[in-house]
Amino acid sequence: MKKRLVILGAGESGTGAALLGNANGFDVFVSDAGSIKPGFRNELAAAGIDFEEGEHTVSRILNADVLVKSPGIPDNASIVKRLLDKGIRSISEIEFAAGFVKNAKTICITGSNGKTTTTMLTYSLLKKAGMNVAMAGNVGKSFARVVAETPADFYVIELSSFQLDGMFNFKADVAVLMNITPDHLDRYDNDMQNYINSKFRIVQNQGPDDVFIYFNDDESIKKELGSRHILSQLIPFSLKGKRPGNGAGLVGDSLLLEFNKKTYEMSIYDLALQGKHNACNSMAAAIVGMISGIRNDFIRECLSDFRGVEHRLEKYLTVHGIEFINDSKATNINSAWYALESMTKPTVLILGGVDKGNDYSHLYELVRSKVKAIVCLGKDNSRIVNAFSSIVPNIVETQSMEHAVKSAYFLAETGDAVLLSPACASFDLFNNYEDRGKQFKEAVRNL
Ligand code: ADP
Repeated sequence: MKKRLVILGAGESGTGAALLGNANGFDVFVSDAGSIKPGFRNELAAAGIDFEEGEHTVSRILNADVLVKSPGIPDNASIVKRLLDKGIRSISEIEFAAGFVKNAKTICITGSNGKTTTTMLTYSLLKKAGMNVAMAGNVGKSFARVVAETPADFYVIELSSFQLDGMFNFKADVAVLMNITPDHLDRYDNDMQNYINSKFRIVQNQGPDDVFIYFNDDESIKKELGSRHILSQLIPFSLKGKRPGNGAGLVGDSLLLEFNKKTYEMSIYDLALQGKHNACNSMAAAIVGMISGIRNDFIRECLSDFRGVEHRLEKYLTVHGIEFINDSKATNINSAWYALESMTKPTVLILGGVDKGNDYSHLYELVRSKVKAIVCLGKDNSRIVNAFSSIVPNIVETQSMEHAVKSAYFLAETGDAVLLSPACASFDLFNNYEDRGKQFKEAVRNL
């Protein structure tokens, strides 16, 4: 008898899992309570996979041998609770796909910020060095789809905490933890420790042959390392100098790296991606490169040529001497902090959207020294106005991107920068952060 694979949620991860399960002889059923995007619907139909949308038919779900849940569905969704009551535990598509991976290495990258950038940087490094590598996870294609369609010897996988929550037996050969700052706490009972535990699942099942690369300046990570017994090789990276032995650190203006007595040094001015946060991302990627045996000259070439990722501190256009920077992906305070930290020109900051309980005081110092005006962009701007009215002379409220960009342009002068780094989610006025970033660029083009 075929095993029954039931998948909740038909997005990229659910569709990938369905295709992989189907190719491996499972009896697959996909159930989505909302409407399925046409692209995914067509793929499922073309593969002859049974699916439903607009509802969850419980009787067709409860008979699952394996249940895969999309990371977007919270644990308190009623269907998930009903399944749990029956003792049916869901796994993530990553856990499912890992069961079909043989003789390949996984490099898994998580953190509150910097996952996509570090994943893409690491992937491009291994690719440039000629390795048979694929990129998967939160960025682009799901891991399951990649395993089904283009298997590789190395997988660089971006993992969110929600994906990690559905992972139990999976082991990362190389685990990378960029940082842990408050985010998504609504899905973790507003308890930071729950979120930290979720991120630390990245090291579960690791043994002495495996590697754990982490940001040693992060207080939550440091504290956690003090109380956990981690078996893998620990490789810290830091912006506050380098510890002796394996690891990386910023020393003066240079990144210093060491792995098994081999060393690598690079000036931060030669990095394609500027800003302290990107020094972290570059160090993490470069250590993975060293562990993988990649030559120093390849690492240097890749870190200095990398083109950057759309919507992440993307220097878009300069109009009449005013530089417009699209950092639409900055959906929390920490990422906006790093964006501001990297600014070298007087800045007009576009801020706002859906605020997930932000504490804006973390930005005060940088705003005082770098920001000449704030343009609020959101349905409800009152929290931002209240937070900054005493420290920024010019605050303008807007409710459309066109108006926000025009206002910022009006407030800026030659030699200034306009930075869209909203520190908030985008769903009040936009479909997602990509839509927000694209509308920003369009409005800049139309100036
Ligand atoms: P993620 O995939 O974790 O959301 P991204 O690489 O897409 O991370 O970057 C998201 C935002 O966070 C960007 O706007 C960028 O300015 C900021 N950022 C990138 N790397 C880091 C880092 N290491 N620490 C803090 N912020 C970062």
